[in-house]
Amino acid sequence: MILRIALPTPLHRLFDYRLPVDPPADPPAPGCRVRVPFGNRELIGLIVEHSEHSEMPLTKLKPVLEILDREPVLDPLLFDLGRWAARYYQHPIGDALSQLLPVLLRQGRAAEFAHATLWRASADASLERLSSSAHRQRELLQLLLDHPQGISTDAIRAEGGQPRLLTTLEEKGLAESFAHHPQPANAALTEQVLQEAPLPLHDEQAAAMQALQAATGFTPFLLYGVTGSGKTEIYLQAIERTLMAGRQALVLVPEIGLTPQTLARFRARFRVPVHVLHSNLSDRERLDTWLHARHGSARIVIGTRSAIFTPLKNPGLIIVDEEHDASFKQQDGFRYHARDLAVVRANREGIPIILGSATPALESLHNAAEGRYRLLRLSRRAGNAKPPRFELLDIRQQPLDAGLSQELMRRMHDHLGRGTQVMLFLNRRGFSPSLICDQCGSVVDCTRCDAHMTLHRSPPHLHCHHCDRQTPIPRACAQCGSTTLKPLGIGTERAEDALQRHFPDIPILRVDRDSTARKQSLERIMAQVHSGEPCILIGTQMLAKGHHFPRVTLVAILDADAGLFSADFRGMEKTAQLILQVAGRAGRADHPGEVLLQTLHAEHPMLQTLISSDYLTFAGQEMNLRRAGALPPFAHHALLRAEATRQGWAEQFLRELAAQTLQTRPLPPGVQTIGPFPSPMEKRGGLYRAQLLIAARSRGPLHALLAALIGQAQAHPQGRRVRWTVDVDPVDNY
Ligand code: ADP
Ligand code: ZN
Ligand code: ZN
Repeated sequence: MILRIALPTPLHRLFDYRLPVDPPADPPAPGCRVRVPFGNRELIGLIVEHSEHSEMPLTKLKPVLEILDREPVLDPLLFDLGRWAARYYQHPIGDALSQLLPVLLRQGRAAEFAHATLWRASADASLERLSSSAHRQRELLQLLLDHPQGISTDAIRAEGGQPRLLTTLEEKGLAESFAHHPQPANAALTEQVLQEAPLPLHDEQAAAMQALQAATGFTPFLLYGVTGSGKTEIYLQAIERTLMAGRQALVLVPEIGLTPQTLARFRARFRVPVHVLHSNLSDRERLDTWLHARHGSARIVIGTRSAIFTPLKNPGLIIVDEEHDASFKQQDGFRYHARDLAVVRANREGIPIILGSATPALESLHNAAEGRYRLLRLSRRAGNAKPPRFELLDIRQQPLDAGLSQELMRRMHDHLGRGTQVMLFLNRRGFSPSLICDQCGSVVDCTRCDAHMTLHRSPPHLHCHHCDRQTPIPRACAQCGSTTLKPLGIGTERAEDALQRHFPDIPILRVDRDSTARKQSLERIMAQVHSGEPCILIGTQMLAKGHHFPRVTLVAILDADAGLFSADFRGMEKTAQLILQVAGRAGRADHPGEVLLQTLHAEHPMLQTLISSDYLTFAGQEMNLRRAGALPPFAHHALLRAEATRQGWAEQFLRELAAQTLQTRPLPPGVQTIGPFPSPMEKRGGLYRAQLLIAARSRGPLHALLAALIGQAQAHPQGRRVRWTVDVDPVDNY
């Protein structure tokens, strides 16, 4: 018997091993882990299939060193989903499958809950065997005798015992330690899922809920609801029904959408445990949550991208909140899209899925238009909240102080004077995005990237936001020696600076990756906002998502033009989404909200559509442009990216690859290759990058061509000095 094993290597293939000479009665099933020799290392791999034959001579096959599981760690459905995703994203199978597992399982640890070491009295222990003067030891032994199921050292200490004497008792044969494996509680009783009453639904919510309730089996819903319309309430009530049916719910949220507030709402509503998978968990906590989900004791699992691979004993519903968010797409290595995989998974599980957003991705709207998703709409805000009022602030020929116009500051004074809060959005952290020489005009660039160094004031240094390189601030210009270096452009630190000058009596709260780097700092800022006192929030897109600030009545976008003229064909879509998400923070409670967009292009059609109409109208216009340009969602894209230490190598590599591949097989109809071209930022982190775009009307020929290109790339003699990767359905940076 031969085992075909997926190993975490960059190779697009399985590896054959044989069972050890002394085989177990039954060979381990596919989905079990094994430890195998690989070159001069040992790797942990997953058995994919059993086979009778191998392309290798049998005498050359190495035996498996250790079988780690008796039961598969991946259930067949997830295992298949992983294999499907590896094929779809054209990623090496071993690396893809390993990413389905928590880190501790990748390292070979047992798929078991953390065990506790407990102490108990030995079978023949009795107090008579201790001298009557050994008070402490007698007390401790009595404690053990009182706890025949075992007691932890912490509990002993809590009861006044002295754990350090345990070894003395052990040496006398009176006490022993043992490993205790906690068994998770069984699924809670279905009738007791609620802790607080659900809100009575408004008309549109009720209609949406009715459609959800009528769904049986796989049904994908696109829940398009303006910010504050009560999407979360729909999620909560849909989950309630899932729990009542004895099933589990999986909720995916964007990386920075997982606010303590969101979590608090879930925990307040339900009596069942809500398990969270986020990036701050230890590997052990991650594994425990994974085990709880697999066991069925985790009834609700909320997590970011990789949570899509959480095993569920009894799944009933998948929700993807803010489904348009780019963080669902992994941007390196195994470049899967968690939203898209969620739809595939729901299909295989035969359960409904809700994709929710105030600004759905054009891909999702297209799927709804084609009848693949059912569109549910919430067009009004819930409760007493009114939609915010939009206004464009034309800043042409207006004097600005650190990006703030006179008119904006006047409006801020108005709102603050009425005792409410103001939020300013600027998607650029640091003091200024560049440092320029006043004499010769040269700008300080990163030596490793085609990018300027960002000036930071606290602490003072230059920082490249692309490769993380940090340097002291130079005293003189490297080109001309002049000492008059000046900050050029505005970042959040600089805006904060100006705000402190103009509003000396108002707390200024800056929210960006720098100001929140320390633990608890974001929580402290949020606590201050929720105190309700007047304040000014200034921040990056960390502010844009998920937050509910009932006292914020004015939201201003300092630079609404930032994405209007991007070379990325998705630039407009991303800009519109960001503007509406930020605007959605305004006036979410009883106080009406106002949204100001500072712009140099007040007549720009997209800005006009956004302020006078709604996202669907904007999306409809954008969709026409995409259709006319044969761009996604009306075409499918894949990128072959390459990078190398010398300029030109990557591009040349891709050119040869394309030429060789197309020599043996002509381009199928409806498929096009574009490039190779240098990437939009050619040099990054010291590497020169290039990309080849493949566009196709249908996926079949696209994937066939990609597979051929990958085959060529693996065999290419330059494959070693050029690093290349594949990105199917790319969303960024091309
Ligand atoms: P979204 O997720 O669409 O942004 P939320 O579900 O967070 O919207 O709802 C916004 C606010 O409206 C919340 O404070 C929520 O409690 C409230 N809300 C939602 N649904 C209702 C309802 N049916 N009646 C009253 N208030 C509601
Ligand atoms: Zn100079
Ligand atoms: Zn750099």
